[in-house]
Amino acid sequence: MALSELRDEAEIVRLFADAGYQIHPEVIRLLKRYKGSLQELVEGLREVFGDSVLVVEKSHVERLLSELLHAKEPRKTVPPPRILKSYNSGARQPQQPQTLLQQLFLDRYNKISRMIKTRINARPIKWAKSGDSEVAVIGIVSSITKTRRGSIIAELEDPTGTMPVVFRGDVNLLLDEVVGVAGRLSKDRKYLIAERLVHPEVPLYRKEEVRAAKKCSAVFISDTHFGSKQFLEEPWNRFIDWLKQRTDVGYVVIAGDIVDGIGVYPGQEEELLIRDIYEQYEFAAAYLREIRHVHIIISPGNHDAVRQAEPQPPLSSVSEIAEIFPKNVHFVSSPAAFEIAGRRVIVYHGQSFDDLIGEIPGLSYGEPLKLMVELLKRRHLAPIYGKSVPIAPQGEDHAVIEEVPDVLHCGHSHTVGVARYRGVLLVNSGTWQAQTKYQKKRNIEPVPCRATLLDLATMKAKVLNFAAAS
Ligand code: FE
Ligand code: ZN
Repeated sequence: MALSELRDEAEIVRLFADAGYQIHPEVIRLLKRYKGSLQELVEGLREVFGDSVLVVEKSHVERLLSELLHAKEPRKTVPPPRILKSYNSGARQPQQPQTLLQQLFLDRYNKISRMIKTRINARPIKWAKSGDSEVAVIGIVSSITKTRRGSIIAELEDPTGTMPVVFRGDVNLLLDEVVGVAGRLSKDRKYLIAERLVHPEVPLYRKEEVRAAKKCSAVFISDTHFGSKQFLEEPWNRFIDWLKQRTDVGYVVIAGDIVDGIGVYPGQEEELLIRDIYEQYEFAAAYLREIRHVHIIISPGNHDAVRQAEPQPPLSSVSEIAEIFPKNVHFVSSPAAFEIAGRRVIVYHGQSFDDLIGEIPGLSYGEPLKLMVELLKRRHLAPIYGKSVPIAPQGEDHAVIEEVPDVLHCGHSHTVGVARYRGVLLVNSGTWQAQTKYQKKRNIEPVPCRATLLDLATMKAKVLNFAAAS
């Protein structure tokens, strides 16, 4: 470096003095050659050390420089995520739960029936009974019964009335979902004999918005379970080291179960490394502080310290938790929708998997993609109401997938799957927790230490494995 390029000593001293710091001569020598922004460095010092330091020494600056080295570039060029939908808990007071529940179902019906109407020509149930015998209706499935002969009778309900519908043989139908049925009225016009079942589905052809393809990548992970004895620290550190090298990565999205929580399942205490929930978050934050150069988007899961009922509010709704995390962490609800580099992402932990498994044959935690396809088909993230997943009726149904996303990101299954369904990228990146005793008893075989790297410009995705040292 030529002499002329060296910084002026007086300028350095003045800048630090303005911020209330004295400066060790060694630091001056170091900073004379520093090419980055001194202003940013001083701001960083204040952020990290505040008033606890009077004389800035080499060790202080070195620690900060290594952070800034990673933090600087993507931070400036990569904008924070644009939050499209994130729900906070106290949206409405449930003075009359009954009414809120009715509103929830009406909202669900209105939104999803609109989608189904583009696929079939349906009539309101009240009028369907009196017109042509070839008819289609749209309604919420209010009951499902299997007859001794193996047929299925479902009751469909819309705001005008109810209609029993008979399906011959097995049918992919869930309680409380909104479906369309085309068929023929029975002779007595009391019920509909189904010929075609129509889900709202993801349209096969969508108008692709022309969007500026920004060269930027995102990493999708889930179920870190910090605080668990089974948390896989070594692979996690490998992941962080890798991430520090990747200047193209602008975002890391975590789909819930950040910590292992307390009292989530019987006997969990034995498997906990940290038995205090806030300490678990402190532990998580300490690891995440190492990746200050990316925007981290965190959605909660059933192990996290917010209410279980969906939509689960953002972790930032607990101020003790929000305070622990650095500014590059953005908290959203579960489910939530946001946009990064022009791509629309829906993140949802996946609690409803628990209810889908068993209701639709062939579904298991081992194949998260199949579960995610069932949700997309229904344009709803938690179709069954009042089974094991608690849902907080807030008048509006936040689990309806109103706009088809570019990416649907889930967790919860602790298994991995990445695929495309009708143009939507489905991502489930597994977990960072080895098998727990509880999972072993229930025959759940996790696939840990994976991260999905997505190039947001080309939408090419790749699953990376950090389980073993390469
Ligand atoms: Fe989990
Ligand atoms: Zn979970």
